[in-house]
Amino acid sequence: MSDEAGATAATSQASPWARVALLVVVVLLIGAFFVFDLSRFLSLDALKRNREALQAWQQAHLVAALGGYMAAYVAMAALSLPGAAVLTLAGGALFGVVTGTIAVSFASTVGATLAFLIARFVLRDAVRRRFGARLRPIEEGVARDGAFYLFTLRLVPLFPFFLVNLLMALTPIATPTFYGVSQLGMLPATIAFVYAGSRLAQIERLADVVSPGLIGAFVALGLLPLVLRKMADGLAARRVYRGHRRPKAFEYNLVVIGAGSAGLVSAYIGAAVKAKVALIEKHKLGGDCLNTGCVPSKALLRSARLLAEARDSARYGIAQMDVRFDFAEVMARVRRVISKIEPHDSAERYRGLGVEVIAGDARLVSPWEVEVDGRRLTARTIVVATGAQPLVPKIPGLDTVPYMTSDTLWELRTLPPRFVVLGGGPIGCELAQAFARFGSAVTVVEMAPRLLPREDADAAAALAARFAAEGVTVLGGHEALRAERDGAGGRLVCRHDGREITVPFDTLLVALGRKANVRGFGLEELGVRLRANGTIDADPLLRTNFPNILVCGDVTGPYQFTHVASHQAWYAAVNGLLAPLWSYRADYRVIPWCTFTEPEVARVGISEDEARAQGIAVEVTRYGLDDLDRAIADDADEGFVKVLTAAGSDRILGTTIVGAHAGELIAEHVTAMKHGLGLNKLLGTIHIYPTMMEANRFVAGAWKRAHASPRALRFAERFFAWRRG
Ligand SMILES: Cc1cc2nc3c(=O)[nH]c(=O)nc-3n(C[C@H](O)[C@H](O)[C@H](O)COP(=O)(O)OP(=O)(O)OC[C@H]3O[C@@H](n4cnc5c(N)ncnc54)[C@H](O)[C@@H]3O)c2cc1C
Repeated sequence: MSDEAGATAATSQASPWARVALLVVVVLLIGAFFVFDLSRFLSLDALKRNREALQAWQQAHLVAALGGYMAAYVAMAALSLPGAAVLTLAGGALFGVVTGTIAVSFASTVGATLAFLIARFVLRDAVRRRFGARLRPIEEGVARDGAFYLFTLRLVPLFPFFLVNLLMALTPIATPTFYGVSQLGMLPATIAFVYAGSRLAQIERLADVVSPGLIGAFVALGLLPLVLRKMADGLAARRVYRGHRRPKAFEYNLVVIGAGSAGLVSAYIGAAVKAKVALIEKHKLGGDCLNTGCVPSKALLRSARLLAEARDSARYGIAQMDVRFDFAEVMARVRRVISKIEPHDSAERYRGLGVEVIAGDARLVSPWEVEVDGRRLTARTIVVATGAQPLVPKIPGLDTVPYMTSDTLWELRTLPPRFVVLGGGPIGCELAQAFARFGSAVTVVEMAPRLLPREDADAAAALAARFAAEGVTVLGGHEALRAERDGAGGRLVCRHDGREITVPFDTLLVALGRKANVRGFGLEELGVRLRANGTIDADPLLRTNFPNILVCGDVTGPYQFTHVASHQAWYAAVNGLLAPLWSYRADYRVIPWCTFTEPEVARVGISEDEARAQGIAVEVTRYGLDDLDRAIADDADEGFVKVLTAAGSDRILGTTIVGAHAGELIAEHVTAMKHGLGLNKLLGTIHIYPTMMEANRFVAGAWKRAHASPRALRFAERFFAWRRG
């Protein structure tokens, strides 16, 4: 276990009383210091007055004097008491430069480390619980560069000694690192002060020791490691370009590879600010979202919903509806929807915006050059937005059976009688429900114990209940071992509870996630770095290890949604075009998503499971849609709104909505989280009656009721009784 992990585990296991007890002891000791006015011994005057007596004592009892001095220093530093400067001068005055420096260096570092450990023990868990996700970027920064920051803070004596100890305690820095870096960082100032102390007679005021020149030197020294770090980064960035000749001039400011959601938005941004932009697409503009993803799947779901509602017409007081349909017609509608949206993503539109749209297979041939159909384009900035493709694992026998993916499913013209979906994630669930509603016998095979493993158990359970009611078989905890051909169809052999289970199918849909498109267009040859999960590695500015090559969308992740792809595209285009003058870090703090099943499952922020796993204390408020007038009127009164708030506050940390229009309802929570509006603000906002949106106000009302003060209510009751006379 790492030191940090150990410290966290230890502090988490400690009882709250142990923390309170330690806090009380520390407060009492600090209180005693001030009550007995011990600070009077820690002034420059007092030191000068008593210098001779102290020196005489030191000469008579060197070991005791040294031990006593160091113990006092450690206690003062551990309790974050003022007076470090004078005590350090005293070290020089009493023991001389060498012994004084050694004594102060060890005593101050040991004291600082004790203060650090006390603060970590008492405060760290509480701060983590309160600020959880918000602290993550800081924690990541400290994990990466913490030692540099600490070194700088220690070198520059402008930063109060005790504050550095307390602040670092709240970060994940390891204790040995804290100790080592602190001792090294404080050494120059220690030497300066001890040396000054050895010439105490010449010092009139503390300011004489810390001259502006000396502070300037320390500041320069303090900034040195950061400057060196930046220079090292710059050199590393230059190193990747070694062996490549940078063109003297560029044909384009920006070349974008891939015209899916990410590439289109990057090109749009570039053209909007009048950069010269080329957009290269090897297949169809609009990418997955328009052609094989969001658009066709949502069109298919809409037809399936109509069918489900017609079949269920008795619920709406209509005894029976005679509905007939042809699956090929449904698929024709899906294509019509795509062609209706197509103009938004068309080459004509983008050419009209000033983008040069090029059809062809792009290949990176140098950090500034892209080859397409024998033509070489040069660009100062290249954005790689090549997306992802369905992940098809190496399941033995898979290539012998009629399997499909979200790329090929849209070619179906006849409904498969037995449709097996491998994967119970969002894509698998959406398509499973659609095909079941059209009349296929649908089985979902999922290795995790339940559907939608990323969502909370209650959300997944609500969907599973609806699947069960609609006749979709869900096989949770089933691991696919192999596929076998069986006539025109096949069988999926799975392991469940140590047994082999066979699931027959006519069509198998493999919906096991998506892998980034990183092969075959020059990335490997150039040396663009990939992550272990196969996506392109990028820094928070979305730059690859070649700073002029940026990425966005599914090819880099971490989220694979159209709205995140376009969000990242803005950062990639702007950072690429403005480098090195200006840059923005991609902001992933508030990312919503939705699985468009019925009921829809939408989420923003953390889930209950994640809060538990991260040790974040949250308060959970639920509002059931069975109480909502509009939901009842629409016969859509299943599901809930669940809001996680920071303990003791109305600040929203995460929301899960299960129910009709959840993907729309969540937007209010997204706005609230993004702009720091709490539940009180939602409660105070007028919502139209009767709408599903009222659920957001009612969940805020439920939170408010749970926080009403019983004392205030008792008082109000008495007050109104009194007013009645
Ligand atoms: C069934 C399904 C349903 C989905 N539903 C939703 C949803 O409801 N909401 C949501 O937010 N997301 C949804 N998604 C995810 C969404 O489609 C993706 O997140 C989004 O399309 C990613 O966009 P992108 O631009 O990164 O990649 P893509 O859309 O994949 O675009 C990449 C483009 O790059 C091109 N390309 C690749 N290599 C080259 C090359 N060398 N030269 C030239 N061109 C190249 C490709 O042809 C492609 O057009 C769904 C996905 C699927 C599969």
